Amino acid sequence: MASRITAARAFLVDVAVETVRTDAVQSFLKQETIFVEITTEDGLSGLGYSYTIGTGGRAVLSMLRDHLVPQLVGLDSDRIEAVWFQLFASTRATTTGAITSLALAAVDTALWDIAAKRSGLPLWRLAGGFRRDVPLYDTEGGWLHLPTEDLVAGALASKANGLSGVKLKIGKPTGHEDLERLSAVRAAVGGNFDIMVDANQSMTSTEAIRRARQFDGLDLAWIEEPLPADDIEGHVRLAASTATPIAVGESMYSAAQFREYLDRGAAGIVQVDVARVGGITPWLKVAHLAETFNVHVCPHFLMELHVSLVAAVPNGRYVEHIPQLRAITRTEMEIADGRALAPETVGLGIDWDRDAMEDRIVE
Ligand code: MG
Repeated sequence: MASRITAARAFLVDVAVETVRTDAVQSFLKQETIFVEITTEDGLSGLGYSYTIGTGGRAVLSMLRDHLVPQLVGLDSDRIEAVWFQLFASTRATTTGAITSLALAAVDTALWDIAAKRSGLPLWRLAGGFRRDVPLYDTEGGWLHLPTEDLVAGALASKANGLSGVKLKIGKPTGHEDLERLSAVRAAVGGNFDIMVDANQSMTSTEAIRRARQFDGLDLAWIEEPLPADDIEGHVRLAASTATPIAVGESMYSAAQFREYLDRGAAGIVQVDVARVGGITPWLKVAHLAETFNVHVCPHFLMELHVSLVAAVPNGRYVEHIPQLRAITRTEMEIADGRALAPETVGLGIDWDRDAMEDRIVE
C-alpha cells in the first residue's frame, strides 16, 4: 500500500520571539515548535507542526513520543479521519485538553502535507480553494506595554502598508485608560480602517459590558476574548449588550466547543487556531460549522499555515499578521497590496529551513 506510513518522529525546536509581545495576562516567551515528520511507502514525507508560546512544549513532545507517534507506523496516511480518531480515542482520559490537541495537530498537519503532495496541490486548493488572497490585519503594533504614541505610529504604518486593520490589546487597570489609547489610534487612522481589541480573557462579564459601552463610538471590528473561555453565559450576556462582534476561539481545544458558542449567539467571529483545536481536520469542521451560522473565521496567530485555510473556505475573513517563523524558514508569507497570498507550492507551502531548525532543536 503506497500510502502506508513507514516512519514517524517528533522533535522540539525553540524559536525566539520576533517582537516583545505582552497582553493583559501574559507575555510570549518563545515559540516552542513541536514538529512531526511522517514518511510513507511511496517515498512521500510530510512535516507538520504545533506550538506553544513558551510553556508545555516538552509535555506535548512526550505525548507524541510516548503515545501517539508509536501508533503511526503501518497506518494509511490517506485515511486522515481514521488516524485522527484512533489517536484521539487512545488518549481518551486526557482529552479534550490542550496538550493532547496540540499533539494531535502536529500529526494531522503532517498528514495533510502528505495528502497535498500526493494530490499535487497546495493546501488552500485541496482544502476548498475559495480564493487565494485574503485580507490581513496587524497585531505587532498593538501590545499592551507599548505607549500610545507607539500604537498610533504602528497603526499608521500598517495602514500605509495597505493592511486593512490593526489589533490593540486592552486590559489596562481602568477602562478610561484603554479608551484613551484606542481613541488616539482611531483619530489617527480615520474611519475606513478596522480596529480590533483583545482582552485575553482578563475581564469579568460585568466589566466587559461596561468597557464595551465605553468603547461605543470607536466602531471596533471586534472585542476578542473579553472573558474566560469557559464563561459561555457571560459571553451570551455581553454579546446581547453590544453591537460590537465578540470574537472567541484561540483558547478552545476541540471543534465541539464552538458549537454552543455559535448556537447561543455568543460568538460573532470565530478564531479557531489550527494547532490548539487539533489540526486541519477539526479546523475545517469549525470553519464550516461557523459558515452555517453566517459567522466569519479569523484564526488566531500562525499566519504561515492559516493563510491557506482562510483562503480555502468561503467565510474566511482575515489572516492575523504576526510573523514568527522567519528564523526557521527560507521565504516568508507573500503579501501583495496588503493582502496575504496563500502559497501555490504543493503541500502546506511553508519553506522550512532544515539547517536553521537543526540548530534550534531542543530534543
Ligand atoms: Mg487573542
